[in-house]
Amino acid sequence: MKVAVIGAGIAGIATAYELAAQNHDVSVFERHSASAEECSFANAGIISHYESAPWTRPGLGWDMFASLFKSQAPTRLLKLRWQELKWLKKCRQFSHVEAFESNFKQLIQLSQYSQACLHQLRQQLRFEYDQSQGHLVLLREQDDELASEMALDVLREVGLNFKILGPQEAREIEPALNPETPIHQAIYFPEDETGNCRQFTLLLKGVCESMGVNFHFNTAVQRIEPGSKPRVVLADKTQTFDAVVICAGLASSALLKPLGLKVPMAAMHSYAISASVREPLDAPKSSVMDEHHKVTITRLGQRVRISGAREIGATNKHLDASLKMLYQVLDDWFPGAARIQDNIQVWKGAYPVLADSKPILGATPAAGVWVNMGHGLSAWTQACGSARVVARQISDRQDEIDVSGMGLNRFYKRK
Ligand SMILES: Cc1cc2nc3c(=O)[nH]c(=O)nc-3n(C[C@H](O)[C@H](O)[C@H](O)COP(=O)(O)OP(=O)(O)OC[C@H]3O[C@@H](n4cnc5c(N)ncnc54)[C@H](O)[C@@H]3O)c2cc1C
Repeated sequence: MKVAVIGAGIAGIATAYELAAQNHDVSVFERHSASAEECSFANAGIISHYESAPWTRPGLGWDMFASLFKSQAPTRLLKLRWQELKWLKKCRQFSHVEAFESNFKQLIQLSQYSQACLHQLRQQLRFEYDQSQGHLVLLREQDDELASEMALDVLREVGLNFKILGPQEAREIEPALNPETPIHQAIYFPEDETGNCRQFTLLLKGVCESMGVNFHFNTAVQRIEPGSKPRVVLADKTQTFDAVVICAGLASSALLKPLGLKVPMAAMHSYAISASVREPLDAPKSSVMDEHHKVTITRLGQRVRISGAREIGATNKHLDASLKMLYQVLDDWFPGAARIQDNIQVWKGAYPVLADSKPILGATPAAGVWVNMGHGLSAWTQACGSARVVARQISDRQDEIDVSGMGLNRFYKRK
């Protein structure tokens, strides 16, 4: 089949690879001049089942209200527009225990499948990129246990491997943790991992090229015309395919809307500060998450990346208060680990979050149009598996995991 993929972030490149591996004739359209220039550019790099837990959880309404009065809230509500208010209202519909447990179980299944696909690719393609093993979640105080408890109950139920550690054991795993910052408890996930998403995306793009995938950079898709031979409309011409897959990240909804398909999603913004390692003995070995602030500190080769501070209703402008929290958390846990005085990269990315915190995978009601989008804060974690799911469905092959709860039909509305 002749298949068009829109978007060359991690979702689009992984989808192009899986389609090419199933012998389709693939063309990728990307509005930037290179792959991984938007949300896949400088993410925290964590592949974690725990961190895939739905954002929509019991207590969300109260947490959002309380965040208005905190100077260091993990998620800030800024200038909310009507669209975001409607989305927040919809999120509250999923903020109860049953929805959290059921959605989280589906997300764990997808992220486990995805990690297995990633390992298979890594081995098969002999990829080498900045990568490390294990993820440590640090709880500063007893209250932080409440935030993690519900997710841990689900992980226990599905039999996922993790260890609850005392302060001393946590410091054995990450010896550079500042001895002056008290640890109440820690949770260690030995099977989670960290990897440079952009590096991986660029490597996989190279493999796609060698498999004959056609790349059209600096080429924005204006719209899609569905049908048995769907058409991709560009500024200067129109091209016909057998299938079109939208992997356009945050911009996916703009391509779906003219087809009469609305999805309850909103943009969440988050930051990543990358700096060179100053002294390896003072830096983390893998990734550490401060549960209280929802800030992660990741080691990516010779760099340390501090990531977090979510904003809803934000613009691309950097907020001093958000950046201050990231520097503060780094200083609390790994003072002196990074050269934050010179040559730092401060990046703000925006990702789409669906009201039920699950991605949308598979066919849409518009003929010939497919989607792989809406992974929220976990597209790197879920990329390889989601791509395989969509490519197998396009190839008319049976799903290898149950993705029945991840179709667009769960909430689409036709105009
Ligand atoms: C600070 C931060 C930290 C994060 N940390 C993690 C983490 O630790 N683990 C994890 O799993 N995830 C993490 N994420 C989330 C992850 O980065 C995203 O979910 C993921 O990169 C999204 O990939 P994507 O391919 O769907 O979208 P993108 O990377 O945004 O790619 C979409 C592409 O589509 C292109 N496009 C859009 N519209 C058009 C059009 N009309 N025509 C042509 N091209 C178009 C865009 O230019 C873009 O290149 C983080 C995100 C942020 C912001």
